[in-house]
Amino acid sequence: MRKKSNMSSMMVTTIFLAVIGGVIYLYNSVMFERDKPTITVENAGYWNLRAPLKINIDDESGLLGYKVTLHSGEESFTLADEKFVTPEGTTRLELKTPKRAYSLKNREVTVEIEARDASKWNFFSGNTAKHSVTFKIDKKRPYISTIASSYRIIKGGSAVVIFKAEDDNMEEFYVETNFGKKFKAQPFYKEGYYVTLIAWPVTEAKFRATIIATDSAGNIAKSSVPVIPYNKRYKTSHIKLSDRFLNGKVSELAYAYGVDDSADIIERFKYVNEEMRHNNEEVIHDITSKVSDNKVSSFPIKKMYPLKNGQVVAQFGDHRLYSYKGEEISEAYHLGLDLASNAMSPIKSQNPATVTFAEENGIYGNMPVLYHGLGLYTIYGHCSTLMVKEGDTLRSNETVAKTGRSGYAMGDHLHFGVLVQGIEVRPQEWMDQDWIRKSITTPMREARKLINQR
Ligand SMILES: [Zn+2]
Repeated sequence: MRKKSNMSSMMVTTIFLAVIGGVIYLYNSVMFERDKPTITVENAGYWNLRAPLKINIDDESGLLGYKVTLHSGEESFTLADEKFVTPEGTTRLELKTPKRAYSLKNREVTVEIEARDASKWNFFSGNTAKHSVTFKIDKKRPYISTIASSYRIIKGGSAVVIFKAEDDNMEEFYVETNFGKKFKAQPFYKEGYYVTLIAWPVTEAKFRATIIATDSAGNIAKSSVPVIPYNKRYKTSHIKLSDRFLNGKVSELAYAYGVDDSADIIERFKYVNEEMRHNNEEVIHDITSKVSDNKVSSFPIKKMYPLKNGQVVAQFGDHRLYSYKGEEISEAYHLGLDLASNAMSPIKSQNPATVTFAEENGIYGNMPVLYHGLGLYTIYGHCSTLMVKEGDTLRSNETVAKTGRSGYAMGDHLHFGVLVQGIEVRPQEWMDQDWIRKSITTPMREARKLINQR
């Protein structure tokens, strides 16, 4: 008898433990999770009733439905109402309001979001989250207008734009080009005014620039920059590659930078002329893309002549096509001006600058980079000795380095490059006082005059 009762009590205990275990298992399983869906709204503060509402809904067990409603006091608009049979994962909504809501006169509206998950909790009805956001209505576009600009921009060259940009809830503004470059502007002279240098890359066939301003309510304003594009033709050079050249400096560079030993001379050349060039230019573009936030009132830049008695040995913008044994194998654009004088001649900067880089950079050899403000940089390639280091502040006419033949250079020369926010531009313009006065300093002076009259 005792034995039997022991047996049955053991069975009861086992069943009891199994039930408890099952309950604990279910309680902790995703199927019965007790967390409400998380709802986040990307828009915040201000809204123009037109820009899409960006909503993220996330839940561990998935979503069975959501509903988004816009309340304007007297009226309500359903922006979304979805129910799912199979649970949906993380959901990102971009909701548009119906057209008739555009004309609402309210100064504030509320958006209510409700989401239900697929959990079996709450007697199989799941967890429901409710989230509501109130927006102040702002339908006014930012105000933008050009105050002054250079009269024209030459293909491969630079120009300046001074504009006004104003909005109570400004988000961002910049000058954007047809090829997708965004130029960041610096504050100019008085509050609400901005200035930026702009550039037309020699590799782009067309140029068009637009000032764009957006506010946090989603309003966008655009205004075209009235600078006239002037299409200049650049030289195309056909260069025949000799075995002597390919086995000399090219192979030396290729091996130094780790090209595969088995690579033949053509592969070695392509590696130096394409891959290395690309990586080295990326380093340059990175360093020279930065713009300060300082207020600028004038830009007293002096004409540049980095090398005294420097003879031009290669022009900016040359399109070089390389052939070997009658077959075209590679190409490149020469994005600086090559100047030669005596070997190891001193290189000087006529303008004050901050040294932002002073190291070896592949095909460019030992290469200092100077920043002159307003997004304008100069680079000096193939140097022998560097006389500056990163972080140095230079006054006018200080020696930066000595010319040499480091990197991808046959003879002692200086590769002089000028960049505007990461774009190589014609150095000739910045080496011409007359061009600087007409294209840069005069528009800036005119802008100050116009601002003072307002
Ligand atoms: Zn060069």
